[in-house]
Amino acid sequence: MLIKLDNTTEYILSVLEKAGFSAYIVGGLLRDLLLGNPTHDIDIATNALPGQVKELFAEYPVIDTGIKHGTVTLLIEHIPYEITTFRTEGIYSDNRRPDTVSFTDSIEQDLKRRDFTINALAYNNTSGLVDLFGGLDDLNNRVLRAVGEPKNRFSEDSLRIIRALRFSSVLDLEIEPQTKSAMFGCSHLLRNIAVERIFNELINILGGVRFDRVLRELFPIFSLIMPEIVLPSKDVTPLNNPFFILSALFKDEYDARRALHRLKADNDTVKRVTMLISSMAIPDEVVQIKLLLSRIGTAVLDIALFRELFYEEKGTYERVRNVLESGECYSLGQLALNGADIVSLGFSGAEVGEVLKKLLDMVISGNIENKKEALVNAVKSIDKN
Ligand code: ATP
Ligand code: MG
Repeated sequence: MLIKLDNTTEYILSVLEKAGFSAYIVGGLLRDLLLGNPTHDIDIATNALPGQVKELFAEYPVIDTGIKHGTVTLLIEHIPYEITTFRTEGIYSDNRRPDTVSFTDSIEQDLKRRDFTINALAYNNTSGLVDLFGGLDDLNNRVLRAVGEPKNRFSEDSLRIIRALRFSSVLDLEIEPQTKSAMFGCSHLLRNIAVERIFNELINILGGVRFDRVLRELFPIFSLIMPEIVLPSKDVTPLNNPFFILSALFKDEYDARRALHRLKADNDTVKRVTMLISSMAIPDEVVQIKLLLSRIGTAVLDIALFRELFYEEKGTYERVRNVLESGECYSLGQLALNGADIVSLGFSGAEVGEVLKKLLDMVISGNIENKKEALVNAVKSIDKN
């Protein structure tokens, strides 16, 4: 099997080989190349030690990403190449990184420590594909299978349970039965994993093409992470957006807020999800839509799309977009009068904002035209009252 590598990756492998080391592409890069998926980070494994890698590539900037664990990151034309020395791993008492690692000369040993067969492949142009665990077949058959005894692998590092959910959801893989049952069996260990890491993976899991099936098949695991969620009555895949899908899992905004805070989700996510959950149908009338836009801005568009997809309120998104594209006034920024004008008409402090808001509502309702003169007259009449 011949896999086309980019020039820089090929160059890195050949520099290592010419110096007498062996070097392979591994991990997500190889998996994604074999799947024909877009690749992001570049993982290279070698028997050269980090110091030797640094010497060989002394002319390039190198970051000591995890030197104790054998990883350095080479920057070539601003692209990071992660180069990790072949290693075996001790136990993971923090469920994050192994307590101890030992470097090894053998790619076989290195592949054995990896989580799933599809992630335990190695390739270079000299040796071709190194596939000790049937990873290529699993990839072709779209199967996710732990390397070695699944129970041991998930108890060593329970983050692998969450990674399994992600790979299954994103890459559309069926989880092999023993692997799946070990995921259930070890799921209580998830409480040892930092919630931030779980949340990061969760966003990817929610965005996967197979998310709905993964959710239904492994619901008890999702319930451990977020006891507040309920199984949606219909397929959530068409929502096609992790935040919409998240919003579809909760009965109310209080549950969502509690769960998301527990997972230390960022404030934007909490705000967006709770807003979607507590949203109401987008009104039919243009005036009402403009009033809504004046209060919460273009978040209305987000709500409209969510309502259209999840509640099947057809035409909702288009209706809001038409208002936005009409160029008609729905926001303070579009008003033909600004704060300075209001001040020059004799108002100050908090009054300025109040007057502007009043004018905006009058313009939106069609009571006055959005023209400077009309607005000035309106302000003068406010003054009289
Ligand atoms: P992606 O980069 O798309 O998230 P990846 O498979 O490259 O996926 P990384 O976290 O970049 O994931 O890890 C690179 C490789 O290291 C994996 O393919 C796998 O072989 C191994 N690996 C990563 N995390 C673990 C883990 N928790 N347990 C065992 N092996 C792991
Ligand atoms: Mg990777």
